[in-house]
Amino acid sequence: MTLTLKSVSKTYPDGTVALQPTELHVEPGEIVSLLGPSGCGKTTLLRIIAGLETPNAGSEVRFGDDDVTNMPVEHRKVGMVFQSYALFPNMSVKGNIAYGLKMQKLGRDAIEERVTEVIRLCQLEPYVDRRITALSGGQRQRVALARAFAPRPRILLLDEPLSALDAALRVTLREELAGLLRRFNITALFVTHDQDEAMAIADKVAVMSHGKVVQTGTPEELYRNP
Ligand code: ADP
Ligand code: ADP
Repeated sequence: MTLTLKSVSKTYPDGTVALQPTELHVEPGEIVSLLGPSGCGKTTLLRIIAGLETPNAGSEVRFGDDDVTNMPVEHRKVGMVFQSYALFPNMSVKGNIAYGLKMQKLGRDAIEERVTEVIRLCQLEPYVDRRITALSGGQRQRVALARAFAPRPRILLLDEPLSALDAALRVTLREELAGLLRRFNITALFVTHDQDEAMAIADKVAVMSHGKVVQTGTPEELYRNP
């Protein structure tokens, strides 16, 4: 699914200009890292794509040929993973992953099949019946990824999904994550302020500064022209 942003801007009610009119184009199946310092507008951009925040008039967000600028969040089929997991702590791993699928009104067999698939792919078999509170940080993050993959989203938005983890685990999980995204052929936007992480995981890096995407290129292109 292609993702296209045209002239997307956002001013919060208190007058803060979070995004200046900005463009972004992501090809189907591409992994794009959004890289930039704290406060440059990365989270706002993701929230607009997800439908959690309304952009200023004149902004346009497209998924493929669909103009989704005014489409409610529940119709967008976007998956989201955040730094702070947002899992249900007292529910089991399986319960957390199945939750979103039940909301989609999938049948019992279809839910079972999808849950089993993502549990296997995210290597969570030993923990299916454990409560989230009994898992380590890395295991929790795997559950968050499994939960996001299960509904087969058209686009996956990841906001610093690894930043709560220690350095070694971050490297392991980012390799796994890149593998999963490619395997599912999911179009993904990955927010980070860590340049090495952005370069390692992405097909392309979009560099943001002061509310705008100011440069886009492959990691190789950006290394040559930093
Ligand atoms: P990050 O830099 O990781 O995006 P922040 O600490 O800037 O995290 O923001 C955390 C949350 O607080 C976000 O949901 C953001 O939308 C919100 N937020 C950030 N700045 C403001 C602000 N000035 N007024 C209200 N909410 C804000
Ligand atoms: P980043 O994710 O790159 O840290 P954000 O999108 O969170 O950037 O924030 C961009 C700018 O918008 C910052 O100046 C932040 O303080 C401000 N901001 C974020 N959320 C809100 C909000 N709900 N209300 C007002 N200002 C906000």
